[in-house]
Amino acid sequence: MTGGRSSSEAGTQSSGAATGGGRGGSGAGSAGGAGRDPLAFLADEIEELKRASLYRPMRVLSSPQAAEVVVDGKELINLSSNNYLGLATHPRLVKVALETTRDFGVGSGAVRTIAGDMSIHEKLEAELAEFKHVEAVLTFQSGFTANTGVIPVVTGENDLIVSDALNHASIIDGMRMSKAPRVVYPHKDIAGLRELLRTAREKGRVDAGGAPYRLILVVTDGVFSMDGDIAPLPEIVAAAEEFGAAVMVDDAHASGVLGKNGRGTVDHFDLHGRVHIQVGTMSKAMGVLGGYVAGSRALRDMLTQRARPFLFSTSHPPAVAAACLEAIHVLLEQPELIDHLWANTIYFKGELRRLGFDAGVSETPITPVMMGDSAMAQRFSARLFDEGVFAQAVVFPTVALDRARIRTIVTAEHSTEQLDRCLAAFVKVGRELGLVQA
Ligand SMILES: *Cc1c(COP(=O)(O)O)cnc(C)c1O
Repeated sequence: MTGGRSSSEAGTQSSGAATGGGRGGSGAGSAGGAGRDPLAFLADEIEELKRASLYRPMRVLSSPQAAEVVVDGKELINLSSNNYLGLATHPRLVKVALETTRDFGVGSGAVRTIAGDMSIHEKLEAELAEFKHVEAVLTFQSGFTANTGVIPVVTGENDLIVSDALNHASIIDGMRMSKAPRVVYPHKDIAGLRELLRTAREKGRVDAGGAPYRLILVVTDGVFSMDGDIAPLPEIVAAAEEFGAAVMVDDAHASGVLGKNGRGTVDHFDLHGRVHIQVGTMSKAMGVLGGYVAGSRALRDMLTQRARPFLFSTSHPPAVAAACLEAIHVLLEQPELIDHLWANTIYFKGELRRLGFDAGVSETPITPVMMGDSAMAQRFSARLFDEGVFAQAVVFPTVALDRARIRTIVTAEHSTEQLDRCLAAFVKVGRELGLVQA
């Protein structure tokens, strides 16, 4: 039941499809041939990607992650990180990480359920639960593994997952790992969502003579990671409640950004107690690394028994957990960081639009500058690089083929002077490449 899948989601699911790949070419025909590299098709596929402007070279930072960075040896203003609040280099987090490393070493040495559950992991989860106003939290190695961990645990063949068309790749992978069928509603389309929920309730399970689903789970990003728009969570919750469904929100880009002290979209919309599963990340605004699932005590307990990334992958180094804990304290004690982030966001987005750029539907610090095709996006990004601005192009399969863009994120650390230098570079390159009027 995957009908109605968006081009974006379909794209995310088959990265080789757009270019035809190299498999049909010289590489695969000689499978089994002696003396030939059996992985030779990879080089062919890479050439295809490069020809289609879809190959993304990695830029190497030789400085800390900050408002100004050294990338491939060049000093640039950084518009490409998720380090919204500058916590990646915050002195308090660095100090705690160093002290914890000295006291507890660099690694945890085991998965949580064997011998890798340290007091700092438990302390972090207890404080996160309090911060999020939920019963319990379980942390994962990343936001990605939080999603791929939780979805197959709470859903199975008797259930239905209802997913926004632009949900993050880790949600898509989590759904693929679940035995539950899924249906996709058009991005933020509440009428479409309600229709799917109504049908699911009326028809029940087609494979089981119309028996009712055990669980219908509506899943959405809180802030959509490529367009920077916010999910209409009050309407989603209302629809879910009407049809007896549960709601899961992935707040990776809302953690530390939206809600009081950065508690996320549930707090932003005052929906405490009405969203059953909240996923968050500690890798973005919190500046460190990790993901978590926040919800009921039973949810946490079940995840400790069944979530595969939790059971079969080593827990965070103690310094990582300690730095995440300190990040919560900084969110609570320095709310001015979030205020500054939003002041910069409003300024930068407003100026970009005033200058004639298409910032799409963004309403958060994630501001895409729409380019259309991949070649333009890559060229624009390369020219910004020359002009001293680090702003990466995002192309297929991260976004749909015809939705290539430069994705910018301002942080609390940027000065107005830095943002003005970025805007000047955007105007210069935009005129040069004919994207805005001269
Ligand atoms: C970045 C992101 C993740 C993954 O978080 P990590 O901690 O980096 O693994 C999950 N979901 C969404 C919506 C994201 O934007």
